[in-house]
Amino acid sequence: LVRAVNVTKSFHGNEVLKGIDLEVGRGEVVCLLGPSGSGKTTFLRCINQLETIDGGRIWVDGDLMGYRDEGGQLHHLTDKQIAAQRREIGMVFQRFNLFPHMTALQNVVEAPTQVKGVARKKARARATELLEQVGLGDKPAAYPAQLSGGQQQRVAIARALAMDPKLMLFDEPTSALDPELVGEVLRVMRELADRGMTMIVVTHEMGFAREVADHVVFMDGGVVVEQGPPAEVIGNPQHERTKSFLKRMR
Ligand code: ATP
Repeated sequence: LVRAVNVTKSFHGNEVLKGIDLEVGRGEVVCLLGPSGSGKTTFLRCINQLETIDGGRIWVDGDLMGYRDEGGQLHHLTDKQIAAQRREIGMVFQRFNLFPHMTALQNVVEAPTQVKGVARKKARARATELLEQVGLGDKPAAYPAQLSGGQQQRVAIARALAMDPKLMLFDEPTSALDPELVGEVLRVMRELADRGMTMIVVTHEMGFAREVADHVVFMDGGVVVEQGPPAEVIGNPQHERTKSFLKRMR
């Protein structure tokens, strides 16, 4: 479903991604691991076109992101076309960024009605279902400030799912949470994986990566150092950098 080839990205001459290749099959869960500053967040943002890549290509479900290929000549897509591509991809951030003045249900209803033109009644029915799916069937009328961090993050997941994305990107979704709230969010993510959602997850939760990921990618210094099934990369890492990172995570 996702193919990235030789993706590069610099900020002010500082090359943060130095040629990243990644393939994610439909229904697969890929976890991106690596130390702070290794480029994981930047790479996710490139997939979602929150950043423009300097080189390489990214396809999502066969669509070349950001460009139109005319006989090998690349042309930039318009903002509108980019917005259409972005709509197919759900993203969940470290901070939940819910609309504070809207209830949980309104937060989930907002994008499908405003962006996709889904009828309000239909969007509400779907939002109710999604809140149930993330274990918040009893909280549709709660405002973000009345919810715990874990509950807010689950609303954020429901909100992303409301757009019926082909792909979900998670950027350290549990790292801003109190430890006792991490489990409930990981559980929802695990269920989503079981339902066959294609997911790329930046995380420091090794248990989750080990148990849920089909494929683990270890990044450091803007390159993929090592990748493979979790049992290999986490269970039996080959590279020194992976080994020392994992040792620090324990
Ligand atoms: P973390 O776990 O801390 O989020 P990361 O692996 O996700 O780390 P990135 O956030 O992708 O790493 O950052 C990689 C490097 O790119 C860092 O050195 C960061 O300072 C730099 N960087 C990221 N975004 C920008 C930006 N918008 N402008 C300038 N530099 C940036």
